[in-house]
Amino acid sequence: MLNLPVTEIFSSIQGEGPYVGVRQIFLRLPKCNLTCPYCDTETKVPEQFRVEKVPGTRFFNKMENPVPLDKLFDILQTFDFSIHHSLSVTGGEPLLWVDELQILFPYLKEKGLNIYLETNGTMPAQLLQILPLVDVISMDIKLPFDSKTFWDVHESFLRYSIQKEVFVKIVVNKDTAVKDLQHACNLIARVDPSILTILQPVTQTQGIQTPKFQQLLEWQNHLLNKLVDVRVIPQTHVFIGQL
Ligand code: SF4
Repeated sequence: MLNLPVTEIFSSIQGEGPYVGVRQIFLRLPKCNLTCPYCDTETKVPEQFRVEKVPGTRFFNKMENPVPLDKLFDILQTFDFSIHHSLSVTGGEPLLWVDELQILFPYLKEKGLNIYLETNGTMPAQLLQILPLVDVISMDIKLPFDSKTFWDVHESFLRYSIQKEVFVKIVVNKDTAVKDLQHACNLIARVDPSILTILQPVTQTQGIQTPKFQQLLEWQNHLLNKLVDVRVIPQTHVFIGQL
């Protein structure tokens, strides 16, 4: 049986995108293949991970990393699947752990839990390995940073993702370039203009500033010239101090 390092497991509400407000079990996994400048997540593998003692209470037990998959399955089963919309598998970049997820997901789905994958959309080969097991894909399109672009890999990823329910999330800040948004817009339109696209204003961090409301309206306008459904949705969990 494989082991999987975990960052934390807890029950909360989804704070981003079109599923805002639904109750989910969050399985946060460590490590990431990117280094986004606005990243607010600890991606190192912790020696111990934390798991809520009673779901939704924010009282945590500490457990040793990595955890064997059969034990992880038992831990997840202490959360009442019937009140949770899905398991939000987040990170870091969860597709770095595709071999382990390929084993874990079938057990969870057999118990009736849907899988909601939050991904940076840059590992299409790994997505293919678990695509049949995933129900909803929340895919980031990363605008260029540090002279790196991700357009080609994002397009491949999105083309695979449309076999499932997928929406795209683009984090924008005060200095986001219209040409980058245009590039993202063209990419989505080439795959399918009806893919739901979320403009997510960055939550202010490390000198990166939230866009002005007027900028958001202009950008949404711009994207709506080619895309059918473009919504501006900030990180709502931040407003109520949630994880
Ligand atoms: S992809 Fe997500 S976890 Fe990885 S560096 Fe970017 S914001 Fe952080």
